[in-house]
Amino acid sequence: MTTPVYENFINGHFLKNQTGDTFAVKNPATDEVIYHVEIADEFIQNAAIESAKQGFAAWSAMTPIERSRILLKAVAILRERNDELAKVEVLDTGKPWQEAECVDVETGADVIEYFAGLAPAQVGQQQMVGNDFYYTRKEPLGICAGIGAWNYPLQIACWKSGPALAAGNAVIFKPSEETPLGAIKLAEIFIEAGVPAGVFNVVQGAAEVGQWLTANPNIEKVSFTGEVGTGKKVMASAAGSLKDVTMELGGKSPLLVFDDADVSQAVSAAMLGNFYTQGEICTNCTRIYVHKNVYQQFIDELKTRTEQNIIAGDPMDPEVNLGALISKKHQELVLGYIDKGIQEGATLLTGGKALSPASAPNGYFVEPTVFVDCKDDMTIVKEEIFGPVMSVLVFDDEDDVIQRANDTHLGLAAGVFTKDIQLAHRVIHQLQAGICWINSYGNSPAEMPVGGYKQSGIGRENGIETLDHYTQTKSIYVGMSNIESPF
Ligand code: NAD
Repeated sequence: MTTPVYENFINGHFLKNQTGDTFAVKNPATDEVIYHVEIADEFIQNAAIESAKQGFAAWSAMTPIERSRILLKAVAILRERNDELAKVEVLDTGKPWQEAECVDVETGADVIEYFAGLAPAQVGQQQMVGNDFYYTRKEPLGICAGIGAWNYPLQIACWKSGPALAAGNAVIFKPSEETPLGAIKLAEIFIEAGVPAGVFNVVQGAAEVGQWLTANPNIEKVSFTGEVGTGKKVMASAAGSLKDVTMELGGKSPLLVFDDADVSQAVSAAMLGNFYTQGEICTNCTRIYVHKNVYQQFIDELKTRTEQNIIAGDPMDPEVNLGALISKKHQELVLGYIDKGIQEGATLLTGGKALSPASAPNGYFVEPTVFVDCKDDMTIVKEEIFGPVMSVLVFDDEDDVIQRANDTHLGLAAGVFTKDIQLAHRVIHQLQAGICWINSYGNSPAEMPVGGYKQSGIGRENGIETLDHYTQTKSIYVGMSNIESPF
């Protein structure tokens, strides 16, 4: 059977590359190649820049309310095609249908809708300075690059294009080479909605294509989602032409469960924050610190629910709530971390092995895994694993657990479970993380800024402030009287 071949999406249509080079994309739940994609060669790269220049000229000349109206049409199409797009995400990522059907497209559409609404509300300032005055304009940056990770491909493309386009920029987006189709679908939807050709372009490929984007002097900004190590390379390369950067990177986030917490709720949060999207979520609370007074109760309930309530299998089956990891390589990496945890003395409470469910026997599954008896200096407690692997630790002192939670170079997210409101706020204010939850975990509405402290990131996505990251301020001084000159 022949599989489809997708070309790059440039200037409003698919464009064939000249080298003929392609890469294959596999369904992680079946290990089968589902389609091929053409790599953006030099011809495509040059065409993408020319296209984005033209797109920018047309789009930035429109009024914000015109742009808003068009983006809202794209939002409506995204919602209409929810199921078709959710299926693309399931086949590309291996995540369960029951998640993609209500989260991936929905949260992507929400963000475009949010920024479409804000676009006409962006205003400059005006101030008198004596008889003269100045005013400011919020102008778009020009061509912005977006580089995406593979865990939420369509959502990431929406989160980056929403504010960029609302502010009047053109975008060249490179999805992850593991999951390239969602961004193509979004590009088609933008055209259908009336976004002018060239405003949103999709280039395909791996690191080399990403490097080209970060180094290209015609591009004013790079918004990157991916690993910390890649983020450092992207930032170093972007420095060559002093591009603005937004960095959404990895995490090793703590969840603190105090002894007055609703333990069942805390277990729900811990399971959501480790097993949702089979553990491939940047904000996951992979270090769970439980107060010694509720520790036994917490791990007893966690073990029972993990062993009884998780259904792995064909991700398109609506009953399945644990999907396949993105690749064989990643599955091996996650299993390697589990071995390391055992070697370094942690105790497996449950899980720990690869899984081969009857409905998806060739998929890259890993059992939901919980380690107890963990120590802060173990590899599984220090490094991001990006799979369904939870480490549980004990604490009995508030100051001590805050210090332990903060003892990491990462700072993406954190959570606290307690019924004591003063304790909750006192602790959360001391945690070094950009995204925090109290008696909740993982929710990320369009209105709320998200991003990391320390090496987890730079800048923010979502929330009002993100529009500022896609505009630059022009100050205009207006003289109202004769110039006093010594010359
Ligand atoms: P990755 O860093 O391997 O790749 C991300 C993207 O960068 C891909 O599109 C890849 O092709 C591209 N790339 C690779 N090398 C490059 C280079 N030298 N220059 C430019 N681009 C390059 O990350 P991944 O494995 O796709 O995603 C998983 C990681 O993403 C995890 O660390 C996770 O925590 C992080 N993540 C963070 C967030 C967030 O919002 N903070 C969200 C999702 C994922």
